[in-house]
Order: sequence, then C-alpha cells, then structure tokens
Amino acid sequence: MARVLIVGAGLTGSLCAALLRKEAPPPVHLTVWEEAGDSGGRMMTARSPYNPQSTVDLGAQYITCTPHYAQQHQSFYDDLLALGILKPLTSPIEGMVMKEGDCNFVAPQGVSSIIKHYLKESGADVCFRHRVTQVNLRNDKWEVSKDTGPPEQFDIVVLTMPVPRILQLQGDIANFPGGTPELPEADARTGSWRHFPIFFHLELSELGLGVFSLG
Ligand SMILES: Cc1cc2nc3c(=O)[nH]c(=O)nc-3n(C[C@H](O)[C@H](O)[C@H](O)COP(=O)(O)OP(=O)(O)OC[C@H]3O[C@@H](n4cnc5c(N)ncnc54)[C@H](O)[C@@H]3O)c2cc1C
Repeated sequence: MARVLIVGAGLTGSLCAALLRKEAPPPVHLTVWEEAGDSGGRMMTARSPYNPQSTVDLGAQYITCTPHYAQQHQSFYDDLLALGILKPLTSPIEGMVMKEGDCNFVAPQGVSSIIKHYLKESGADVCFRHRVTQVNLRNDKWEVSKDTGPPEQFDIVVLTMPVPRILQLQGDIANFPGGTPELPEADARTGSWRHFPIFFHLELSELGLGVFSLG
C-alpha cells in the first residue's frame, strides 16, 4: 500500500489530504504530521477553557471568494456553505476593502472548522506534536525524521508548511539540484514566497515530493 505523508495540518495540508482521498486510486494510506497540538495553522481557532462556545480566530477571520476563485473553485464554497461551515459575511468589518464581485464568508464554528472538516473527510491519520526535522531519500523511499521517535518511510511526501520553514529542513532535501541554490527571492514588497512552491514542486515531483503553500 502506498504511504503518503502530508506535513502540516493547515488549510493546504487538510485540503490536500481530502483531495488525495478523492482522487488517488486506492489503496493509499494517508498520514498528516503537524507540529502543533491542534490543526488549523494560520487558520487556528482558540476556545475558552471555561466556555467552549466562546471562540476567537487567531489568523484568518474571513474567506474571500473573488470572481476568479469562484470560476475555479465554486464547488468548494458551495459544499462548505451547504454544510453550514461557511456563512455569508453580512456585517461590516472595519478597514475591510470590498472589491466588486467579491463574496466574503465567515465560519460560525471558528475558521479552523474548515480544516477539521477536510481532515475528517480525508480519513487520514493525523498526528499532532510531530515536527519534521529531516527528509532523506533512502532506497527510493522518503525517510522522514521528526523531533521525537524513529524516522518513518513514505512513498510520497507533501510539504505544506511556509517556505522559510521548508528551507530549515535538514537532510537530502536541502541538497537537491534546483532546490535551495536557485531559490527566487521573496517578493520584496509583500514578503511573499508565493511563486516558490510551484517551482520547487516541478523540480521534485518526479521523485514523489511535493511542496504546496498558500504563501
Ligand atoms: C493574521 C492573519 C490573518 C489572515 N487573514 C486572512 C483572511 O482574512 N482571509 C484569508 O483567506 N486568509 C487570511 N490569512 C492567510 C491564511 O491564514 C493563510 O493563507 C492560510 O491559513 C495558509 O494555510 P497553509 O496551510 O498554507 O499554511 P499554515 O496555516 O501555515 O499551515 C502550515 C502548517 O504546518 C505546520 N508546520 C510547520 N512546520 C512544520 C514542521 N517542521 N513539521 C510539522 N508541521 C509543521 C504548522 O504548524 C502549520 O499548522 C491570514 C493570515 C494571518 C497570519
């Protein structure tokens, strides 16, 4: 059975897991390793220890569907709306820039409910407090080390953490041709690394290593 590891339980990792479950021919065993104690990443929702109904979104607080996104991914928004995970944002937000054609949504149960939904849909084994430290190629398998416990081997590894964190990884991944030496600079104006993951992914996809990030 092919073993796939997705590193990071944020929006990218959780959606990637759900899409792989739908698209990848069985049997595929999906595992997600996340260094934090819960899923969400930059879409984390904190809950009051005294009242679980009392939540605060610590990163993203609303989701914008632009006309371009709607054209590409309308079904994703429709599914989340039908399940009540998203609701249209009707209240004004101070400082919010509204562009013509944009629709904004909020997640009434906290923005991390989107991530939890996709992880559940994926059926992946989700392991928290698993911080990946090294990725090595051993006999055509990816051997992935974490900060505790022995390394494990996978056929495919998908890295979804922010690019600066990927660059801190040790092992063979740091030495691939087309990897770190040719890194494009982060966008000087926005600090964004958005274009980098696609570049890196193209270089390594034939080896079964993918890098996806929302910047
Ligand atoms: C303050 C703030 C406000 C925002 N507001 C909005 C908004 O209103 N609307 C919107 O659409 N977007 C917003 N964003 C952007 C949005 O939150 C991100 O684009 C999105 O959450 C990124 O998801 P991701 O899965 O790509 O990355 P992340 O959420 O960063 O997920 C990566 C995961 O990888 C884990 N990880 C990292 N390194 C390792 C490792 N070595 N081993 C194991 N796990 C690791 C991290 O803990 C994390 O959970 C906001 C972001 C911030 C910070």
